[in-house]
Amino acid sequence: MIATGTPGEAAHARQIYVGWVTAGIELCEHVVTSLSDAEFAEPSRLPGWTRGHVIAHIDGNARGLGNLVTWARTGIETPMYSSMEQRDADIEAGALLPPQALRARLVQSSAQLADGFNSLSEEDWSVQVRTAQGRMIAAREVIWLRAREVMIHAVDLGGDVTFEDLPDDFLIALTDELVARRGTQRGHPAIALQAPRHRWDISGEGTPAVVNGTLPQIAAYVTGRSSRAPILPGWL
Ligand code: ZN
Repeated sequence: MIATGTPGEAAHARQIYVGWVTAGIELCEHVVTSLSDAEFAEPSRLPGWTRGHVIAHIDGNARGLGNLVTWARTGIETPMYSSMEQRDADIEAGALLPPQALRARLVQSSAQLADGFNSLSEEDWSVQVRTAQGRMIAAREVIWLRAREVMIHAVDLGGDVTFEDLPDDFLIALTDELVARRGTQRGHPAIALQAPRHRWDISGEGTPAVVNGTLPQIAAYVTGRSSRAPILPGWL
């Protein structure tokens, strides 16, 4: 996660994460711009969701995380979503918007979140805020949450973006996080992940299964976006 060391180091780390957010949203906008209107209603790579659902979710996530940025700046508790039911209803409604309107919403909410990041002072980044899952995090982690969303969902949109298009340092940070997360899940199988220059071990049950692949393949696998055995449940 984002280092807290000296103020200079912390600012540098934030810059890297903000760079991932910018790159990820550019990939999303690239796909969204290249889709025909009819393709918005077609299935995405996420089970049960059209591309319109994924775009509405990326848009809603920007607004939700924007609430956490407001919380950090003002100190006034501002939850990501009023409820999970409302979050889901907004995705359903957003998916039915005319494609042109949905595209415009995504561009607008992403720009607004970028402005929000720019509005925070050094101290604001340390304010504790609550994620939709109920976890308390420092505001600086919001940048990472957004980077994950825009990078992975850029692939989920089902356009020409794949994990191969995502930066190596991002894929390493993502795999680090998921290996740690999956290693704490009860009943998760033990798995050794082997990429050409990196290796991770997911602690778990049984003799570790070995999964080999390129870094993008390993990252896709560990997020549950691969057909390789042992199949992992989807995440994010
Ligand atoms: Zn998501």
